[in-house]
Amino acid sequence: MAAKIMSDKLPKIVTELPGPRAREVMENDHRYISPSYTRSYPLVAKSARGAIVEDVDGNFFLDFSAGIAVCSTGHCHPDVVRAIQKQAESLIHMSGTDFYYEQMPQLARKLEALMPDGKDWRCFFGNSGTEAIEAAMKLARYATGRWQFIAFQFSFHGRTMGSLSLTSSKAVQRKGFGPLVPGVTHIPYGNASYLEDVVFKTTVNAGEVAAIVVEAIQGEGGYVVPPPEFLPTLEKIARKHGILLIADEVQCGMGRTGKMFGFEHFDFHPDIVAIAKGIASGMPLGVTMAHADVMTWQPGAHASTFGGNPVCLAAALETVRLLQEQYVANSAKMGAFIRPKLEKLMSRHAVISDVRGLGLMIGVEITKDRKTREKAPELRDAIINECFHRGLLILAAGPSTIRLSPPLMVDEEQAQFAVDTLSDAIAAVAK
Ligand code: PLP
Repeated sequence: MAAKIMSDKLPKIVTELPGPRAREVMENDHRYISPSYTRSYPLVAKSARGAIVEDVDGNFFLDFSAGIAVCSTGHCHPDVVRAIQKQAESLIHMSGTDFYYEQMPQLARKLEALMPDGKDWRCFFGNSGTEAIEAAMKLARYATGRWQFIAFQFSFHGRTMGSLSLTSSKAVQRKGFGPLVPGVTHIPYGNASYLEDVVFKTTVNAGEVAAIVVEAIQGEGGYVVPPPEFLPTLEKIARKHGILLIADEVQCGMGRTGKMFGFEHFDFHPDIVAIAKGIASGMPLGVTMAHADVMTWQPGAHASTFGGNPVCLAAALETVRLLQEQYVANSAKMGAFIRPKLEKLMSRHAVISDVRGLGLMIGVEITKDRKTREKAPELRDAIINECFHRGLLILAAGPSTIRLSPPLMVDEEQAQFAVDTLSDAIAAVAK
């Protein structure tokens, strides 16, 4: 089926891609900007609203990436924009490290109320996912007096030295940066008993492990949903050995999976939760939440000049309200709408070997063919590029997965367009 073109909710491509202005920006970018960024295709964004992004040449794209799973309420949601404007007019910065302002406890209180265990929680505010993880690592060491960590193969936790030591998503992310923080052991994701049966018997003394750091649904690793027993078994092992559980909800949190937190899909009760990406609709905010009896470090132990900036907190307060009122439910609903349609595509395209995910965190696995399951990263990248030329913005995850992570406000028409476009792109590329 040919994808439908144009309405204010659907894409419209009017120039060759990249267009002339886009090419100009890219030339400057290549001259002045760090070459470490990985741009999959030449989108040069100018403005955006809802799930539509306009580029500098007047082309309109449907965004199924949400700026890497960030713009949870859609681009420039009017309520979020209003909250940012209002806050910016009265107080932009004061530094929560040295002074008080009311938005900090306001948001922390809201976040505590979102936690399903009903316990007392405390919040530390940073500016990004990696900072939320750094704070979680430091807190776990501080609270336990232990130094080691367990993390998982293919996981992603950030790129600063501590979080990078946990990250095990792609070799290039670590190459050239060693030695990293010592004490991290990576084990296969989805196999909790490996910890008890192998690691604690052979390599690591369980009594020296401060925390297990885990994504409830693996993000950068390829949108992998673990088997149902994985997280509960991990919890049993952690409790037995006095190890803290850190849930990295940076990507799978804030409604992405159709529940507020990814770990809520499982019988799992973390002590520390790291949040970022979707929490403030695109404003930079990272939050490390911990049970009040875990976050007891002394004044001066950890802080951040900008973390929990009032403008970002205002955006987060509005985002949480919108998520609670509408978009977490819409994420679950639209996930249920899209998933069967993508599964149906498997009968049309032999290169799709798996469709998986929860809510609007959906992975489509591309392999050479379904029987061999040989990974096909180049084909995956070609499909993503073809989608771009057809007006659909999607990203890769893991070795051979296409990730769909749209804003949580997308509707059926947009979801149908994404499915049709993906199908047309595969048909065009996978000959
Ligand atoms: N943790 C997870 C699960 C992530 O997906 C990411 C980013 O993709 C991070 C941490 C790091 O977040 P940031 O890029 O904001 O530092």
